[in-house]
Amino acid sequence: MAHELLAAAQQLQDYLTTQRRTLHMMPELSLHEFKTSEHCAHELSKLGLKVSKPWGEGLIADIDGPNAKGRIALRADMDALPIHELNDIPYRSKHDGVAHMCGHDTHMAVLLGTAKLLAGMRDRLRHNVRLLFQPSEELPPGGAPGMIEKGALEGVDEVYGLHNLPALEVGQVATCTGAMTAAADIFEIKLTGKGGHASRPQETLDPIPAACELVGMLQTLVSRRVAPFEQAVLSVTKVKSGTTHNIIPDDAELMGTVRTYEEPVRARIIEEMRRMVSAVAQAHGLQGELHYLRGYDSIVNHESGAKRVAQAAAEIVGKNNVDPDYQRQTWGEDFAYYLQKKPGAFFLLGSGNKAKGIVNPVHSARFNVDEACLPIGVAVMAKLAL
Ligand SMILES: [Zn+2]
Ligand SMILES: [Zn+2]
Repeated sequence: MAHELLAAAQQLQDYLTTQRRTLHMMPELSLHEFKTSEHCAHELSKLGLKVSKPWGEGLIADIDGPNAKGRIALRADMDALPIHELNDIPYRSKHDGVAHMCGHDTHMAVLLGTAKLLAGMRDRLRHNVRLLFQPSEELPPGGAPGMIEKGALEGVDEVYGLHNLPALEVGQVATCTGAMTAAADIFEIKLTGKGGHASRPQETLDPIPAACELVGMLQTLVSRRVAPFEQAVLSVTKVKSGTTHNIIPDDAELMGTVRTYEEPVRARIIEEMRRMVSAVAQAHGLQGELHYLRGYDSIVNHESGAKRVAQAAAEIVGKNNVDPDYQRQTWGEDFAYYLQKKPGAFFLLGSGNKAKGIVNPVHSARFNVDEACLPIGVAVMAKLAL
């Protein structure tokens, strides 16, 4: 059955490649997925599916089977990134400065292919299917909360989604139980003092030494406040102050990101960071402000969902090519919100190919996928419904 499914999906390779390349050439930024949405809606309607648009440019289409019970939702994200593509390929992005460098074109092609495959075998569906094309994954607060609020999960029993991963070779699939991606938060710190002439520091309240101390102290949050068996990342990614050699500036700004997997760790870091900013500011006679912006929550896969994905994938690509306990990822994904409402799992679809030089990570200007991953994604998605 599974081999037959993969063979059927591979029969769709030309369709899948065409879909992926068409979408690749017309990338659109988060909340602006107008033509992308129109294209996908058109492809779905060609299959005789009724398409609705619940939120923004997002799309929902159901595939029902005469013998199917319950409903599973399968999700693809739709948006591209503000990156100028550096790949020299015939289907290069036609929009300068915008490109599908996270591979959401691949995810949409997989879901369109899954729709095509399943629409042709409705009588074999074990579960009715809901296709979710979700906009704005790259832009917090994400498209998932809007889609959910507008009923995307109504009548749904389980929900699944995938992300391509060039770090995994094509033909491999990975998932895990529990936390899979990080809660990805942003912080901005402003230290305000009193500027003046660089030769008369005693008349100023210099924010620069305080900013430097704070950069060092923030590193101790992970090394001294997070237990060795817990995980967190804190990176200061921007330090900004001053204009020239003879002026002490009025203020200094820091910016960065915090990645965590468990809410108590996240809450502890926020609290300790607040304390540090205020203490360092006070010690230097400055005003300190912390703006902490919570990003996506961590994706927490349900055990039952992760097992189902691992089983389905094992039937398609063989047990040896499936990692059911894959390492946690430090990036964030708004798929987290679907799994807070319904059981299911997120999984990673190998899209790299070292021999062909397809190794660049997502969000790089030379990111690409091995399109042989498309039918594999289709077969695993389809298997979840059969
Ligand atoms: Zn991305
Ligand atoms: Zn992505």
